[in-house]
Amino acid sequence: MNDDCIFCKIVKGDLPAQIVFQDGEVTAFRDINPVKPVHILIIPNRHIASTNALTEADEALIGRLVNVGRQLAADEGVDESGYRLVINTGPQAGQTVYHLHLHLLGGQEMPFH
Ligand code: AMP
Repeated sequence: MNDDCIFCKIVKGDLPAQIVFQDGEVTAFRDINPVKPVHILIIPNRHIASTNALTEADEALIGRLVNVGRQLAADEGVDESGYRLVINTGPQAGQTVYHLHLHLLGGQEMPFH
């Protein structure tokens, strides 16, 4: 838990969010500013600032994040039409919240760039 982190506050329930999945390890909620018809953020409950802060000990956790993304893609009905799981890391990639998150994006054609 990082007191200054908005995503930690969402995990704790101190900041409202449209949570679509939560267990003891992972939380997923709808992006407040969706850029696609399906736009869900999947995060570890534990504060990890970015991909850069991951260690080998987090390999199973990363697997879980991807698996939750796969399940939510199916729940949202975009598993067959297609979706992206995106992790932005650092300023040039556009990371604005420094709590690791996967964007699940779907429901609309996406060009490569
Ligand atoms: P990134 O630019 O990869 O760091 O993505 C951060 C995402 O968090 C953006 O898509 C924001 O719209 C989203 N976001 C920021 N604050 C909230 C919030 N309180 N609830 C839901 N999504 C949020």
